[in-house]
Amino acid sequence: FARGLLSARNQPCVAASGEAVALKANVELPAEAILALDHGAQGIGLYRTEFLYIDRSSLPTEDEQYELYRAVVEAVSPHPVTLRTFDIGGDKFASTFALPAEMNPALGLRAVRLALSRPDVFMTQLRAMVRASAHGDVRIMVPMVASVHEMRDVRKLLMRAMAEVKSRGLPHAARIPLGMMIEVPSAAVMADVFAREAEFFSIGTNDLIQYALAIDRTSRSLASLASPFDPSILRLIYSVARVAAERRVPVSLCGAMASDVLAAPLLLGLGLRDLSMEAAAIPEIKEAIRRVELAECKNAAEEALACDSAEAVESLVARVFAPRF
Ligand code: PEP
Ligand code: MG
Repeated sequence: FARGLLSARNQPCVAASGEAVALKANVELPAEAILALDHGAQGIGLYRTEFLYIDRSSLPTEDEQYELYRAVVEAVSPHPVTLRTFDIGGDKFASTFALPAEMNPALGLRAVRLALSRPDVFMTQLRAMVRASAHGDVRIMVPMVASVHEMRDVRKLLMRAMAEVKSRGLPHAARIPLGMMIEVPSAAVMADVFAREAEFFSIGTNDLIQYALAIDRTSRSLASLASPFDPSILRLIYSVARVAAERRVPVSLCGAMASDVLAAPLLLGLGLRDLSMEAAAIPEIKEAIRRVELAECKNAAEEALACDSAEAVESLVARVFAPRF
């Protein structure tokens, strides 16, 4: 199975039954964008911008960010780049922010909450992203959204950032889609409501698992309990995918689950057609998708949704899919 995987990078990602699946890359450092294309990525589904704020004494300037985003957007064009606004706090530390000590940082001032509490820093990032939109297909994604007010506030700030860039005589795309991560259970449950606020969804299973199962994602001793195959996680994903299809909101999935060769066919069966993962995993996932039929993925997903435990789902996918990969 592993042989010839890289040579598959120019093959289309279609299931054996013909359905196309977009495979995109999660990247952090700008150099990874080229690696992503080498592995056959059809764009950047998640550009994590936290690295800009980590291990340094001053905040990144607008120009510095713009140059970095622009380099990635130009390298990947005409494919899309989804720039995620900074997801600082929780397990992602940043010395440049004087974050308060909290008992539960994963439940504290992080990501969009931190951004909205520091509009000066957030606006600098939004303006840099807006300017980068002049160079390709840029989308902006908000992490850790838990309530509609957050999306409304971010949209207002994005409109202001676009107006500011324009008033300086600088170019930007006429439309910049604003979407959100679905990684907090409240957002998954309220996906129908969020469909009116967000132009796209991306399901972040790393945090969704952490918050749905109440298992710290950094805990080694509990890692075996935090299974992406837990039926509660599959039900949340299925419900978001269904709502997104009904409301015609594009939906992708960008957690580590997307790069699990036994999970990917299940995700297809749950309705997903757009997955984003670390670049190195793309050839293997593509090959796996090329070997499955949608009907068997749907059957497996239906059976998995009715399972009572992660173990039951794990043995189901091992029985149905593992022999082929
Ligand atoms: C996630 O939570 O699944 C995700 C993709 O974001 P991160 O891992 O950066 O929190
Ligand atoms: Mg996350």
